[in-house]
Amino acid sequence: MTQVTRAGRRAVGKVLPGDARRHHRAAVLQHLFDGGPRSRADLARDTGLTRVTVSDLVAELLADGIVTELGTRPGIRQGKPATMLGLAGTAPVVLALDLSGEVLRGAAVDLHGTILVSDEAPMGHGEQVVEAVLALVERLRAASPRRVLGIGIGTPGIVDAAGVVLQAPNLGWADLDLARRVKAATGLPTHVANDANLATTAESAFGAGDEAGLLLVTIGQGVGGGVLIDGRVLSGPLLSSGEIGHVVVDPEGATCGCGNRGCLETTLAVPALRRDADPAARAEVGRRLGSVLSPIVTTLGIADVVLYGPAELLDGPLLEATREALAHQTLPFVAQRVHVRTVRLEDELVLKGAAAYVRYREMGVV
Ligand SMILES: [Zn+2]
Repeated sequence: MTQVTRAGRRAVGKVLPGDARRHHRAAVLQHLFDGGPRSRADLARDTGLTRVTVSDLVAELLADGIVTELGTRPGIRQGKPATMLGLAGTAPVVLALDLSGEVLRGAAVDLHGTILVSDEAPMGHGEQVVEAVLALVERLRAASPRRVLGIGIGTPGIVDAAGVVLQAPNLGWADLDLARRVKAATGLPTHVANDANLATTAESAFGAGDEAGLLLVTIGQGVGGGVLIDGRVLSGPLLSSGEIGHVVVDPEGATCGCGNRGCLETTLAVPALRRDADPAARAEVGRRLGSVLSPIVTTLGIADVVLYGPAELLDGPLLEATREALAHQTLPFVAQRVHVRTVRLEDELVLKGAAAYVRYREMGVV
């Protein structure tokens, strides 16, 4: 799938004539997002585009309410003062949804990744979840202070680039064209991606994630994972990269939603952790997680490992046991450098990642 990546910013692709305008517009916006307020002349210098082209694109962005004129640059007295441009308070928002947790979470997120409005609804199974998504989108849309750029949805499971959920055992979905259905019902551009991949992107872009190498495990109703190497989230030829929740850790264990027995998520998912709060049981889950993580970390040479989920379940015996197991099951060189940490659910990585994904797909800005 196409992912939002920092490396993507440096990528030089062959620009088709019809795409040139969109590409140039994205370049202007990228510099305004990254560099803050600047003049038309600054933008021409930043992008390598002509002053005429920049003025033309800025006129369009002003008309669309995405950019605004902020007045003249202070402190310069000679010559004609340059008018500064910045991102407008009227810029559109993204409606972002997170299907990974115990409840369905949604938010209106601005183009900087700030959550303006949030709401939630009960989760369900199968078609109920689709209905809940559509209802929550309508509530968020009604509550949104501004025009909506599009909808971004982070869902568990294997998702293709067109937003078809190929398989999501916990939701009871197979070959569900979620993006098309939500777009048809709302009339809004809709982009769907794997929840853990979006969280991984967000932790790298907005959090403390190591852009060179990050392994992020999402712990919600199920267990997912995202792998980022050299600024890119990996999807792999099967599009299933990071799906560590369904690695079997106990062949005699409980039956999993995927049909196998003893998958990691049968003990690590939030419902299982809530069922057994005994510190010894939590430590055993942590040891198994560490055993699953160690070959991945060792193979990929990753130092930054993040567990993303409810802090009260993860911090303590589970985290300690995960660190300990990992430290003893990899090369000493790796063990001395790898760091396992938790990120709190309140950081809303899936929602922020979904918003960033829509910004990228609709505006070309990473
Ligand atoms: Zn499974």
